[in-house]
Amino acid sequence: MTTIEAVQGDITHESVDAIVNAANSSLLGGGGVDGAIHRRGGPAILEECRKLRASRYGKGLPTGQAAATTAGDLDARWVIHTVGPVHSTSEDRSHLLACCYRESLRVADELGARTVAFPAVSTGVYGWPMDDGARIAVETVRAADTAVERVRFVLFDRQAHEVFAARLR
Ligand code: ADP
Repeated sequence: MTTIEAVQGDITHESVDAIVNAANSSLLGGGGVDGAIHRRGGPAILEECRKLRASRYGKGLPTGQAAATTAGDLDARWVIHTVGPVHSTSEDRSHLLACCYRESLRVADELGARTVAFPAVSTGVYGWPMDDGARIAVETVRAADTAVERVRFVLFDRQAHEVFAARLR
């Protein structure tokens, strides 16, 4: 059984085995939570991201997939980078957002991570409505077949935290 919880805060301050990053496909850093993780985690993360680009993801990490690097100076062992879909009103991309959570947990299992912190993937620059993003996040993690013992959603603002907390009730 996986314990699922939601807290309000900055994910870069979490002490967990793995922190999930809402990255972009280039893996070379960006704004939002991605920028914060690289800023606080230091250059070792970007260095490993560049190696991932060179070895496995020459065209970038595809949307819905996940890949791990060191967590650098963060209080975690790994950062799991996943690429959320940009929200679209003309096409249902929910399956790709669900895939981000599922794939991140699969990578966490591969690593042997027992505690994982997630941000609300795609709900920032990528425009996903928070309520639907929370629904997909919670449903997917609840349904996941994983050895991860604790999943913690770390929401930046109070409103997002309330939305996730309501979904978990
Ligand atoms: P995306 O491009 O996937 O939308 P963003 O980083 O723009 O990614 O936003 C994803 C979510 O992460 C947003 O809800 C945003 O408010 C939140 N966020 C931004 N910085 C942090 C942080 N340091 N810790 C936790 N969540 C964060």
